[in-house]
Amino acid sequence: MSILKRLPRIFDRSHEYKHWPGLIKAYKKWLPVTDKTPIITLQEGATPLIPLKSINELIGKNVKIFVKYDGLNPTGSFKDRGMTMAISKAKEDNCEAVICASTGNTSASAAAYAKRGGMKSFVLIPDGYVAQGKLAQALVYGAEVLAIKGNFDKALNIVQELSNRYPITLVNSVNPYRIQGQKTAAFEIIDSIGEAPDWLCIPMGNAGNITAYWMGFEEYYKAGKSKKLPKMMGFQAIGSAPLVFNKTIENPETIATAIRIGNPVNKEKAFIVKGKSKGKFTAVTDKEIIDAYKLLGKEEGIFCEPASAASIAGLIKLKEEIPPNSTIVCVLTGNGLKDPDCAINNNDASFKNNLEPNSDEIAKAIGF
Ligand SMILES: *Cc1c(COP(=O)(O)O)cnc(C)c1O
Repeated sequence: MSILKRLPRIFDRSHEYKHWPGLIKAYKKWLPVTDKTPIITLQEGATPLIPLKSINELIGKNVKIFVKYDGLNPTGSFKDRGMTMAISKAKEDNCEAVICASTGNTSASAAAYAKRGGMKSFVLIPDGYVAQGKLAQALVYGAEVLAIKGNFDKALNIVQELSNRYPITLVNSVNPYRIQGQKTAAFEIIDSIGEAPDWLCIPMGNAGNITAYWMGFEEYYKAGKSKKLPKMMGFQAIGSAPLVFNKTIENPETIATAIRIGNPVNKEKAFIVKGKSKGKFTAVTDKEIIDAYKLLGKEEGIFCEPASAASIAGLIKLKEEIPPNSTIVCVLTGNGLKDPDCAINNNDASFKNNLEPNSDEIAKAIGF
């Protein structure tokens, strides 16, 4: 029987809404908002939970694997879930400007939502280490972009200091509203498949997202919406794996720039999540990340950014440990279009160029 037939209907709340209203309205009673909170939204959330095919076969054991494709949020990453909350609460507090440090996606999201809420945004990025698509977004959404000669961790120290000294709201994942918004992804998974998966595989940078998912799973579990809780399986790139090796990495390196972070702000929380969920943190190499990235594209038709592919790379790496018949959700945190350079440099495509514009020539190139 096909995997689709065995499963209840995939997440679809469209019958509840004429238009999906964004995650704050959809999950209002689970979030710290009141009728006075101005809701700044781009209708984020309700992202697809896509069943995989080829990677299941690779793993065997009758596992069901889904990807939560959060790259389909309005600015192309899961950061929008947290940003709609953080910016709405900032607006409620009459704040006029926000600031963040970013490996790219936070800045794109902060810039978009700040504009939507009529606020200014200042974004600090590590010069030369932000993927093209993300930089393009921050510029187009009208952020003040400040590139520093230093990595993400340095940028974060600076924005933390500035937000203490000046009237400007910090919207990194130390902002508790970010985590609140992001927990809705776990709600959507349970609303979709009826209970929590056995494993939740997720890339970790600052570890805000793993913290948020766990919060969401626990809240739904306590409310009786799921009979089980998942094991939280967190993955980092080996050159940038402070949570795996339990030490600060001074000069983190990886092709997955979104998770090129050496001193995660949510590390204490991440260790609590690992302990409570009986999960595991594992490092994957850049090569394993790229192999998974290519596999998703060419076998499944799914294009994510390299950091996101760490969740699939990690799952494949832990193949032997996967319990038979389990249900697994891998979080794809960002859209592949964010990092076109990575795509162009890492693919197995057939690409013939300089062809003469006539049908005989093209027929020959096709192999007729
Ligand atoms: C921010 C980000 C991550 C890491 O999320 P954390 O909450 O910092 O652990 C992973 N992947 C992508 C694409 C991101 O933008």
